[in-house]
Amino acid sequence: MKYIFVTGGVVSGLGKGIVAASLGRLLRARGLKIASQKFDPYMNIDPGTMNPMQHGEVYVTEDGAETDLDLGHYERFINQNLNKYSNLTSGKVYWRVLNKERNGDYDGQTVQIIPHVTNEIKRFIRKNAEYTKADIVITEIGGTIGDIESQPFLEAIRQFALEVGRKNCLFIHVCLVPFISGSDEYKSKPTQHSVKELQASGIHPDIIITRSESDCGENIRKKIASFCNVDEDCVIQNSTAPSLYEVPLLLHKNGLDRVVCKKFNIKGRCDLSSWKAMVKNIHSRKGKVVVGLVGKYVSLHDSYLSIVEALNHASYANHVFVEIKWIDSEKINKENVNETLKDVDSIIVPGGFGYRGIEGMILACKYARVNKVPYFGICLGMQIAVIEYARNVANIKDATSGEFDRKGSNVIDIMEDKIGKQIGGTMRLGAYPCMIANNTIMEEAYQKSLISERHRHRYEFNNLYRDTLINSGLVISGTSPDGKIVETIEVKDHPFFIGVQFHPEFKSRPNHVHPLFNMFIKKSMKG
Ligand code: GLN
Repeated sequence: MKYIFVTGGVVSGLGKGIVAASLGRLLRARGLKIASQKFDPYMNIDPGTMNPMQHGEVYVTEDGAETDLDLGHYERFINQNLNKYSNLTSGKVYWRVLNKERNGDYDGQTVQIIPHVTNEIKRFIRKNAEYTKADIVITEIGGTIGDIESQPFLEAIRQFALEVGRKNCLFIHVCLVPFISGSDEYKSKPTQHSVKELQASGIHPDIIITRSESDCGENIRKKIASFCNVDEDCVIQNSTAPSLYEVPLLLHKNGLDRVVCKKFNIKGRCDLSSWKAMVKNIHSRKGKVVVGLVGKYVSLHDSYLSIVEALNHASYANHVFVEIKWIDSEKINKENVNETLKDVDSIIVPGGFGYRGIEGMILACKYARVNKVPYFGICLGMQIAVIEYARNVANIKDATSGEFDRKGSNVIDIMEDKIGKQIGGTMRLGAYPCMIANNTIMEEAYQKSLISERHRHRYEFNNLYRDTLINSGLVISGTSPDGKIVETIEVKDHPFFIGVQFHPEFKSRPNHVHPLFNMFIKKSMKG
């Protein structure tokens, strides 16, 4: 088993996650089994309770871990499912160490960052390796070299390399190479300083990836190689690509997987033909559809990252541009709803929490149902569709969710086993099977009767209202295999009106479009 550690230097936001994910894709294209992992230095146990406006979306794995959004990139690029060992925060490490201390597991020793915290970090790397049985484990260290928070992680990976043998490990450092317009040149000094800092932690990079706006030139790369003491072919350029999914091709062209395999003595060819075909589709798009995304976190687009990517994937598959019109649901009211939505071809209401902005979503949903505009409700968006239908078709005027108002008719209510539980880590999380009913949009999209999708919610369709809503014409198109939990709803005589309690966006891949997003975009094109 081989291990690659990816660190970042100079500034944050360099796309270190995209580099790690792209490398995963390149090694996968060489027939290797890859496991990815991200270490986040913050103190939250996981990102599950973090505000999406601060931290972007929470990505959910098959086994129900709530993880950093970078893990979504890993899955999309590498197309291998991640797991509960894929994301480790400082909070989670300290939590385990302190629990062990309380349990008396340390036999009265003084508990310290070295070795107890670092041991816990190393255990996590090993666990992921054992669990996935991958050929190569790629671990990204969040944050920037020099941050106080990431020091225990650096110390842990330094020790880890010593333990498994330096020849089985590679350290890749991604660094900014800025362009100074005044002197019209790229600068290598920030990289030199960052490498020096990394070396102070006892880590010498094997490969340096230079992140620059465009080609920083052979001379700069030679200078970095010489001053930072790495081979010349190990300074790999990563300039801004026209699209995210072109980064693996760019890094391949610049020799990244070649030098990695040379260092690890791995033979074989890199077959990127299907990836290249997908990238070709990106450039063959014509015309456009406008999707109105009605949510309350719209000022930070990363809050909906996987949905945006799933729409992109459907746009590639259908050779059409998808433009998202970001609509703040709090700003929608009865007076402006028609005007706000008149120029969109279809509407998505994505996931969300809390009452704020809900009434605007309900108005948007009604607009879509009545005007036969394609509607795709995801998680909260499904619950909104049920509330709207209950209020305006089934005549349950005070219909709402128990999450917003306990006094109204709670057509959506808390799942019984979640009553009174704490907030973190107590949602229905991860993959659950769903049985599809005949003659439904679900069946037409998936072309099968049993599917599995990932969940992240605390509330669900309330069966006390099931018969009333069915009698008013609502279609229950997907349920848990025992029929008890309503997973998807539809509206009849409508080109595409569907609400799903799960998050299909997490399973969409650039070269494997998700069936629901695919059909949604197809129907939007007809609008
Ligand atoms: N807030 C809703 C619930 O907890 C929906 C969650 C979501 O959209 N992810 O059930």
